[in-house]
Amino acid sequence: MSFSLPLDPAQILIGGTWRATPETLLVEDPSTGEEIARIARGQAADIDAAVIAAQDALWGDWGRFTAAERGRCLARLGHLVEEHEDLLAEVEARDVGKPLAQARADARALARYCEFYGGAADKVHGTTIPYLDGYTVYTLREPHGVTGHIVPWNYPMQIIGRSVGAALAMGNACVLKPAEDASLTALLFAHLAQQAGFPAGALNLVTGLGSEAGAALSAHPGIQHLSFTGSVATGSAMQIAAGANVVPVTLELGGKSPQIVFADADLDAALPFLVNAGLQNAGQTCSASSRILVQRAVFDEVAERMAAAYGAKRIGPAMEDPGIGPVINATQKARVLAYLDRAGDLPVIAQAEPGADLPEGGHYVPAMLFGPVAPDHPLAQEEIFGPVQVMIPFDTEVEAIAIANGTEYGLVASVWTRDGARQMRLARKVRAGQVFLNNYGAGGGVELPFGGTGKSGHGREKGFEALYGFSTLKTVAAHHG
Ligand code: NAD
Repeated sequence: MSFSLPLDPAQILIGGTWRATPETLLVEDPSTGEEIARIARGQAADIDAAVIAAQDALWGDWGRFTAAERGRCLARLGHLVEEHEDLLAEVEARDVGKPLAQARADARALARYCEFYGGAADKVHGTTIPYLDGYTVYTLREPHGVTGHIVPWNYPMQIIGRSVGAALAMGNACVLKPAEDASLTALLFAHLAQQAGFPAGALNLVTGLGSEAGAALSAHPGIQHLSFTGSVATGSAMQIAAGANVVPVTLELGGKSPQIVFADADLDAALPFLVNAGLQNAGQTCSASSRILVQRAVFDEVAERMAAAYGAKRIGPAMEDPGIGPVINATQKARVLAYLDRAGDLPVIAQAEPGADLPEGGHYVPAMLFGPVAPDHPLAQEEIFGPVQVMIPFDTEVEAIAIANGTEYGLVASVWTRDGARQMRLARKVRAGQVFLNNYGAGGGVELPFGGTGKSGHGREKGFEALYGFSTLKTVAAHHG
């Protein structure tokens, strides 16, 4: 391990106290396969203790914090994250195999979430309803209480920022269960939160397996809200588990997000987004653009230019900051390779192969661009979660919309065209939580609400909208005649 952590990663945080668990889990560097740390293997009893600590915090110091004090804590936390950006970036690169520059961008996003939600903490309030004679009616925005947060391994810092940040801003007490493959930056975040002045129990952190700590958190009767980001299969199980206690759930799940390129598009502007939105984080991004729909007149030109961009990509260890790093673990590698097998005789437009000199234990897969691919092919329908894209030709706008909407997902879409009226039509007709016109992702956009439709999930995180999701509305009606 080249980095040194300011805490023991084999401990969990409950009620302001770090404690070990009898068993631990190995943490492996996906770039090399080497062990870099061990984390605690939290169990149902630890989740129980964390939920009780969170409840105590709501009755104690944390519950007495004013909104402005909560905002100040978050702002201080944002500054601490900024000060520790180098460490957070290196730890993330080593823990999840994310190229260093991307890991650094995630650390900056985490700081920005703290800044954004810190500033917003005392700006959310209810309304008055002046239409009932003889009554004064108003609404109050209140925290849910104890919120559970189950986070995946692909963007831990960003997802913790957007969900835990917003929940703390609204005065909830959080129990965070990071992914077993990506817990180190979550632990650092909790450590920094203590330094930022969050009182004991405001943020509790239990590392461990999804089937143990995660399952216990989702089914716990003591939580009042569950925020889950991860796969469709687990998300569906979360909804059922939380539903047994009638606990509301926000689900941020997978996608098969299209970029739609019309013949009149500015291809110079589109090209970097067409490629990078698919290959960023080795394609392990919920909003990865894995389907490139191209109007037939420019299909060959786009294919040629994308192939050139693939040719310039280097696959390598995360700390060397390559264009494409490894995937997270051996299971994910096997999953991606199985999809490449299923490609069969699909035409290959471009591929970038891992070099023979890469560490043997690293989880490297080739980056592949296939096309033309039929819209109903499994590679054009299923989330692969690897550096694999398909190109699908279309002729008309109506056909493009039908293909774009022809999967069970609905997370992100982009439209590339110079025709303003067409932009507006597609923005309405494409089924997705967010539609980007002549861009992809709006630079990450902490300020933008984010979420899915269909099997991409429901509820919104990010932006101001998240603050409504992490609070509940109370109506007060006073009769005065
Ligand atoms: P996953 O569902 O396997 O795991 C996500 C989290 O759930 C982890 O913390 C895991 O420990 C936990 N978990 C697993 N089984 C559990 C169970 N039975 N009970 C409770 N918790 C359990 O997902 P993953 O493979 O880590 O992440 C990849 C998926 O996440 C992809 O589908 C991706 O699209 C999705 N994702 C979505 C968004 C979004 O904002 N929509 C963002 C990032 C990732």
